[in-house]
Amino acid sequence: MEEHGALADDQRPVVAVANRLPLQQGSDGWELSPGGLVTALRPVMERRSGTWVGWDGGDTGIPARLPSMSIDLQGVTLTAEQVNGYYHEFANRTLWPLLHDAVEKPVFERCSWQAYREVNEAFAAAAVEALGRHPQALLWVHDYHLMLVPELVRAALPEQRIGFFLHVPWPAPDLYSRLPWRREVLRGLLGADVVSFHTEGYRRNFVRSATRALPTDVVVRGTTVGHEGRAIATTAGPISIDAAQYAETATSPETAHALAALEAQFAGRTVLLGVDRLDYTKGIVERLLAVELLLERRPDLRDQLVFIQIAVPSRDDVQEYRDLRATVEQTVGRINGRFTQPGTDVPVHYLYRGLPQSQLAAHYAAADALLVTPLIDGMNLVAKEYVVVQHALRRAGVLVLSEFTGAAAELREARLCNPFDVEGLSHLIEGVLDEPLAGRRRRIAAMARRVHQHDVHRWVATQIADIGGQAREPVRDR
Ligand code: UDP
Repeated sequence: MEEHGALADDQRPVVAVANRLPLQQGSDGWELSPGGLVTALRPVMERRSGTWVGWDGGDTGIPARLPSMSIDLQGVTLTAEQVNGYYHEFANRTLWPLLHDAVEKPVFERCSWQAYREVNEAFAAAAVEALGRHPQALLWVHDYHLMLVPELVRAALPEQRIGFFLHVPWPAPDLYSRLPWRREVLRGLLGADVVSFHTEGYRRNFVRSATRALPTDVVVRGTTVGHEGRAIATTAGPISIDAAQYAETATSPETAHALAALEAQFAGRTVLLGVDRLDYTKGIVERLLAVELLLERRPDLRDQLVFIQIAVPSRDDVQEYRDLRATVEQTVGRINGRFTQPGTDVPVHYLYRGLPQSQLAAHYAAADALLVTPLIDGMNLVAKEYVVVQHALRRAGVLVLSEFTGAAAELREARLCNPFDVEGLSHLIEGVLDEPLAGRRRRIAAMARRVHQHDVHRWVATQIADIGGQAREPVRDR
């Protein structure tokens, strides 16, 4: 055991449980992967000490700790069959579409549910083992891959403080009720002391789903759910970005260099940008169709406007994602085929890859408008990154933001859109190009200020204070 005597609340170690360990193989061996969650948790976990529990990705020789990082790592080893059932099937083909309003039809199969349960048990056992090394630790479980872990840990350690954060939306009770294992999943989550969501809307949906699926097992009082003699707090805590770090990237020489190249390439044209994982929740096809309608209606824009779509490859071992890629690429081809003017550049630039941060920041800076048009999205960090970069470089871009994103609850000065209304979206895009600069700049500044104030460090501090049962303010914990 590492700790002796009672620790002050703000010193209790943190055991984080997430689908993957935050590691990747670099040229000099293992290194920290660039994910947002680990960047956010790192300062807090290093200060308080702690362990990160996650799937080892099938890699052997995972170190117990990275030399560059004082966080212990505990890998969970899974068979190929378990990974397929729990991750590719249940997480990505059942829960992901279900929790995203069933915009793609969820697949319900008993064998993948079985694998999900089995893998959640393995994660819970690993978490209990890690907690044995840090007896006063707070346990923080992340996301839809691990919704049974809180109840499983509670059964082993009844006094353990447990928090759960869902990084995706929670749908309306009618939709959630389609899940054959709706009660089991709810009971899994209600093993926590705090269950947290990006928005008040998702939180409310969760509580209503619990009341509907477990009418005799839960009692709701305000935002607290009573279950099996315990009180579970439900909270809304929108995740964010490291705004200061992003602003620094925006003003770095690498970004300036990349931006100069983009400005030379697209000189004299209005730049529209889309940045997404290639996922059917992101509304990429609807966005392309809106651009197509605009170019159809306004022949004068065909060589004056460029739409750059960065599509980061995602889950390409799932059929629905391969189908989406085919549709997107066919649509891009059709638009360019229809509207490229002889002797001029194509109207749609399509990049099927992820870009390093400085390249991405240069694209954000170059874009006169960012089109964030998901059919549904738990948060959308790209929108937050855009306003911070635009503001850091004193630019006056327009954020077109789907009202069906968690970010829309915070970034109220964006031009909110309904991506299901493709024709309306095409008119909205046309309109924003003519907006006066002063108003645009004011709106970017207001949104950037909010993102700076509510950055990811504040989010981590608030979440951890809640899990520890502390007062919510003050929240800075860096
Ligand atoms: N991203 C990146 N390189 C790219 C495109 C995106 O690193 O070429 C990052 C982006 O900076 C953002 C994240 O991927 O932090 C996407 O997060 P978001 O919440 O927008 O969507 P998600 O992929 O989590 O659904």
